[in-house]
Amino acid sequence: MEKPELLIPAGNLEKLRTALLYGADAVYIGVEGLSLRATSSEMSMFDFAVGVNEAHAKGVKVYAAINTFARNADLKQAKIIIPELAAIGIDALIISDPGILRLIRNSVPQLPVHLSTQANTTNIEAVRFWRDQGVRRIILARELNLKEVGEIAAAVPEMELELFVHGAMCMAYSGRCYLSAFRNRRSANQGDCSQPCRWEYLLHESTRPDDPLVLQEDERYSYLLSSKDLCLIEYLPEVLASGVASLKIEGRMKSAYYVAVVTRTYRQALDALMQQEEKYKCRQEWVDELMKISNRGYTTGFAFSEEKINETSPEIKYIQTHEPTGTVLQYDPVKKMMLIGVRNHLATGDEVELLLPDDIIKIDTRTLLDANEKSIKEANNDNKIYLPLEREAPVGTVLRQKVK
Ligand code: SF4
Repeated sequence: MEKPELLIPAGNLEKLRTALLYGADAVYIGVEGLSLRATSSEMSMFDFAVGVNEAHAKGVKVYAAINTFARNADLKQAKIIIPELAAIGIDALIISDPGILRLIRNSVPQLPVHLSTQANTTNIEAVRFWRDQGVRRIILARELNLKEVGEIAAAVPEMELELFVHGAMCMAYSGRCYLSAFRNRRSANQGDCSQPCRWEYLLHESTRPDDPLVLQEDERYSYLLSSKDLCLIEYLPEVLASGVASLKIEGRMKSAYYVAVVTRTYRQALDALMQQEEKYKCRQEWVDELMKISNRGYTTGFAFSEEKINETSPEIKYIQTHEPTGTVLQYDPVKKMMLIGVRNHLATGDEVELLLPDDIIKIDTRTLLDANEKSIKEANNDNKIYLPLEREAPVGTVLRQKVK
């Protein structure tokens, strides 16, 4: 079994550094103004250059997403940005639009191109078509099952295949959706989705506008249009057996805490699978970890002919058992103290754990010291505090506690 790449979303430098710390093989980043995440989670060219240097120093690849469906007005900027990205040393460009592909072929033909899932590649002949256009890798449509993925891998072995294994799903076909454009003029196809499929909706019968149909579950409304999140952690042997080269995690708009947990969990699972293929078994602790980040209940999506996850909540509403409490800014090996940048709120006695890449450690919070080493009872967002720790913790390590 070939070792696949673990590909992690990195919306900004903090998330990129988090992905590097917790074991990404590669990261993907939106390019300011030309990715499918127009309102946030894109990097400026300066940050891109810094991120590429830091990632390459650790042997991690960086892919730049310019996967907007370009309008005429976008082409001028694309013509400037494409050679700039090549010059700072990115490893591939992720595109959707054939026009952007043509610009790349004309200006930097040596640069590898990955075709976005937005291009809806669903069959062997489509993969051959894109191969003939010079595409190096295809990010397959999420609608495919693993059997179809395996057929493509066997028929076109020279093409690298990338598959989403974790993260949010769209109700629309590979994200091609007008809901956001209609509701508030923010087009998903230009990277500006406001995610209205996650909102609460009622169904009205036209002659009874004051009597909406409410589908109730545990006294709450059901989220009619909102999908559960994809999670294939329990099925990695089947995913790898299909022949994919890269396992992709969704979520450029998600938090650094999300990046830490998914990277760490899938890293551990993949390493265990590669080490002991025959004896491999998904550990319950990995499944439990993924419940500690924001999710709307998990699904195996279209990977199999039937749904494999039955025990998560039927409510399509955000669930999260833990929240970030801070990140390590510095470690003092003499005083055995770590300086923490606080997230949310932390009070003395809170049950806090440190999410190291190789361990999870309970932290003593009976005494909190502020940046001047004075004892305090509580700390809030952006405060800096000291907490004790016997072993060294790398900068960027995440602390968390149960949601209060
Ligand atoms: S509204 Fe929902 S289904 Fe439509 S593109 Fe946005 S996230 Fe996807």
